Amino acid sequence: MAKLLEGKPLAEKIKEEIKSEVSSLKKKPVLASIQVGDNAGAEAYVKSQKKTAEGLGIEYQFHKLNQDISEMSLIEFIQKLNADKSVNGIIIQMPLPSQIDYKKISQFILPEKDVEGMHPANIGKIVFGKAKILPCTPAAVMELLNSTGVNLYGKEVVVVGHSEIVGKPLSLLLLDKFATVTICHIGTSGAGKLEEHVRKAEVLIVAVGKAGLIKGEWVKEGAIVIDVGINRVGDKIVGDVEFEAAEKRAAYITPVPGGVGPLTVTM
Ligand code: NAD
Repeated sequence: MAKLLEGKPLAEKIKEEIKSEVSSLKKKPVLASIQVGDNAGAEAYVKSQKKTAEGLGIEYQFHKLNQDISEMSLIEFIQKLNADKSVNGIIIQMPLPSQIDYKKISQFILPEKDVEGMHPANIGKIVFGKAKILPCTPAAVMELLNSTGVNLYGKEVVVVGHSEIVGKPLSLLLLDKFATVTICHIGTSGAGKLEEHVRKAEVLIVAVGKAGLIKGEWVKEGAIVIDVGINRVGDKIVGDVEFEAAEKRAAYITPVPGGVGPLTVTM
């Protein structure tokens, strides 16, 4: 039976480290958060980020902008925050209204204030192994892997999902640990080869968003399984991996909820 890789205890440990680092600073750091219009999802994120930030001694400066704001006005607002020396970090809440292209506007955040690590300059630094600010979810996955104490050198690691926020940057971080990385995606499934790759994985990381995509019986005996997926099935939240069957074969597995999620906000 697999050991559970829970995110909460790790998140608490990292928070303690942040708290002590923050308390040694002369001035309280300020995280500016921008929400555009009303959205229940964004409001939930804001609430949890505010609670986390304030608990760590970080000031959470919340800005709510009009639903119909133009892209240009939003960019000007971001530039004001860039120029404001009292603001250390900027975060833009998703989802955004349809007139706003996140990829376009996020490029206007100063790379050193880009707490989500999604500015092209920060993503680019991952390629050179020099990133200081990492995208949150890949950073959370690396923390979970690190907590197992397993050396990734030469390990067969299979990442399912190649999105810009999870799979792609995560694969680069894994390469830096000298893992042998296979990246699977919709094309792999389309070619009927997903099972074949998953069966080889000594470390399996899945970030797709399809409940039950990864059959428990595909999981290699003794594998580490990190399930990033979040899916609502009826009144339950589940991952992308068939948990009960996978748990019997894996050495370590993340629960959903309670695995990657709690660490992401902290990172
Ligand atoms: P995305 O939609 O941007 O990307 C999905 C990826 O899955 C793509 O690479 C796509 O090619 C691949 N894919 C789709 N269908 C597939 C199939 N049948 N077989 C193989 N690959 C397939 O998604 P995302 O933003 O990367 O998020 C993925 C999942 O992770 C979602 O469930 C999301 O809610 C979750 N997520 C969780 C956290 C967290 O903190 N726990 C953070 C981010 C995302």
